[in-house]
Amino acid sequence: MPDDTFIIDDDDRYSRFRLIHWWDQDRLSRAKILVVGAGALGNEVLKNLALLGVGHILVVDFDKIEKSNLTRSVLFRSRDRGRTKAEVAAEALRDLNPHIRVTAIHGNVLTDIGLGVFRDVNVVIGCLDNRESRLWVNRSCWKVTTPWIDGGIEVINGVVKVFTPPDSACYECGMTENDYRLINLRYSCPLLRQEDLQSGKVPTAPTISSMIGGLQTQEALKLVHAIKVPGGEALVYNGVANQFYRTRYQHRDDCLSHETYPEPVELPFRAGTHTASELFAAVREHFGEGRLQIVLDRDLVVSVNCDQCGTNRRVMKPLALVAMSQGMCPECNEMARPEIVHSIESDSDLVGQKLGDLGIAPYDIVRVAGCHKEQTFLLGGDRDAVMSEGNG
Ligand SMILES: [Zn+2]
Ligand SMILES: [Zn+2]
Repeated sequence: MPDDTFIIDDDDRYSRFRLIHWWDQDRLSRAKILVVGAGALGNEVLKNLALLGVGHILVVDFDKIEKSNLTRSVLFRSRDRGRTKAEVAAEALRDLNPHIRVTAIHGNVLTDIGLGVFRDVNVVIGCLDNRESRLWVNRSCWKVTTPWIDGGIEVINGVVKVFTPPDSACYECGMTENDYRLINLRYSCPLLRQEDLQSGKVPTAPTISSMIGGLQTQEALKLVHAIKVPGGEALVYNGVANQFYRTRYQHRDDCLSHETYPEPVELPFRAGTHTASELFAAVREHFGEGRLQIVLDRDLVVSVNCDQCGTNRRVMKPLALVAMSQGMCPECNEMARPEIVHSIESDSDLVGQKLGDLGIAPYDIVRVAGCHKEQTFLLGGDRDAVMSEGNG
C-alpha cells in the first residue's frame, strides 16, 4: 500500500493518530521510555505514554500507595493502599493498553537502576520531588547520552525542562547555590544523610500534574519522532497569573555533570552473581599489566567506626542509603565515623565481594581504570531480568 493512501481502520486502536501527517505509530511502538517516579506527575505521564502506545514503558518508584495519593493518581484505587506504586501503575497501564510492555521496578533510582537501563531507553522522564534524584538522573543521562525531561509542580504552578546530552546545558548547569546547599544538607557532617530531609511533601493540585505531565509527554513524543526540541531550556507556567515563559540555561564549562562514557564492552556478568575479582580477571586483557581499579559511581560506606569505644560495624551500602540512625554507635549513642570508598583496587580486601554488594546496580556500566587507560563494561548478564515485564 502506498504511503499516501489514507485508510481508516476502525479496528486499529491508533487509527486517529495516523491521521496526523508526521505521526509514526511504529516509532512509538518501538520506543522505550523510563519514567522515574510514579507519584502525581508520574501517574499522568504513564497514563499518556500507555494511551500513545509507547511499546515499552519502564517505571521506577520505591514508595507504597497511601490514602493521600488517591486524589492525584489516576492509576491508583483505594484497594491498592499498601501496595507498591510501581507494580500497581504497571498493572493499570497493561489494563489501559494490552499492546504494550511495562516493566515495574520497585526500587530507588539512586541505587537500583543500572546505567544499562538509561542507555537502552530513548527518553527518560523525571517525575521527581527532590534535587538529589534529579541530579542523579541528569548525570546518568549524560554518561550514556539519553535525553531527559524533568517536571516539577508546586500548588498550581509548574515547570518542564528538556535536556539533550551531550551538547545542551544540563540540569546541573541550571542549579543555583541554594540548590547545592539543599542537596548538601543531606550529606552534612559526618556525611550521613538525614532521613526527614529525604523528600519535600509539596502540596499540589491534580490539575497541575495533568498539565505538566501532559507537556512532558508531548516533549517525549517529539523526541521519539526526532522532531527538534530545544535542549537546556525550561518552560515555566505560573498557574495563578496564567503566564507561560521560556528560559534558557547557560552551558557551564565547569559543570560536573558533563561526563560522557565511551561505548561499553559487554560482559555476560551479573551484579548479584559476580565478584570484583572475577571482573578484574575478565577485563585484564583490555589493560595489560599493572593495578586496576573499579571507579564507583556510588560512594560506598564500608563501615562505621566509633572513636569513643572502638566499635566497628560493617555497612557495605551506598552512601545515599545510609540513614542517620545507622551512623550512630549503638554502645555510646554517639555519631560514629563512616569509612567511605570511591573505588575498589584490584588488591583491595573487598575484591571477593559481589559487585552488587559494592553498590553496583544490576545491568550497570562499570568503569575500570588501569595505569594508562579507562574502559567501561556493561553487565549484560542482567539485561533480560531487568528489562523483562516480570521484574519488580
Ligand atoms: Zn551541566
Ligand atoms: Zn561507641
